[in-house]
Amino acid sequence: MVTPVFRFAPSPNGLLHLGHAYSALLNFDMARAAGGRFLLRIEDIDTVRCTPELEARMLEDLAWLGLEWEEPVRRQSEHFADYRAALEALADAGLAYRSAMSRGDIRRLVEAHEAEGVLWPRDPDGAPLFPGREHERDEEEGGVWRLDVAAAIDHLGARDQLGWMEEGTGPAGETGWQAADPAVWGDFVLARRDTPTSYHLSVVVDDALQGVTHVVRGRDLFTATSAHVLLQDLLGLPRPVYHHHDLVMDDDGTRKLSKSRGDTALAALREAGMTPGDVRRIVGLPRVV
Ligand code: GLU
Repeated sequence: MVTPVFRFAPSPNGLLHLGHAYSALLNFDMARAAGGRFLLRIEDIDTVRCTPELEARMLEDLAWLGLEWEEPVRRQSEHFADYRAALEALADAGLAYRSAMSRGDIRRLVEAHEAEGVLWPRDPDGAPLFPGREHERDEEEGGVWRLDVAAAIDHLGARDQLGWMEEGTGPAGETGWQAADPAVWGDFVLARRDTPTSYHLSVVVDDALQGVTHVVRGRDLFTATSAHVLLQDLLGLPRPVYHHHDLVMDDDGTRKLSKSRGDTALAALREAGMTPGDVRRIVGLPRVV
């Protein structure tokens, strides 16, 4: 039998709050219950916003919660070559292209269209879809690498089977087999000049390299899974099962917690005298596994 592998993959660009505690503890508890392994991965590709100080505070908070993880911890900023190799494989297959359009260029194009009453399509995060491959500039250096999603879907030639097994639930209660729809993201970013990879690319490369079998994460990433399974199939990577979980909401129950809200930071709760058991109770997890 294959040993299940779970991971918690935070970005050290702020302080951990109750939402992270829930996700980390849930992964840890599920790994224990399944007789599996629990890994921690530091997603610090944004080397400006992610700092060693924030990472150190994050590790301290996680240890305080009672989590134990395997060493060494994988830190994404130390593995840019792995993501580069994946990007090159996609570029060699003719599925990735470099675009010269800046965010400002895209915004102006969208505004011009919408001024004429034509609504420009948006992705699930509300960002305008990229206008398309005609804006590539392959002969020049720099720019943003994007996936040609239409070409990628054609390349696989099996769109009906592109999907994943959802063991948790999506925003509308989706569970079980999910057909992926990566086109909702348009030609998403694979790498930028200042960040030589993207969240989507590095997360699939690392989940495969680390042998992750169960991705347990917040429901806000449910729709991103369509992009992830597309990349997995293009790169020949195995498909984990996915379990998207509830988000811990703020006091009035309307918004998910953000790193900028100091009062739910684990460090603040700890200083106020809360115990790890209190945190488990607040997020609705059992005390002992
Ligand atoms: N690094 C991501 C975050 O902090 C999580 C990525 C994932 O679990 O796939 O939101």
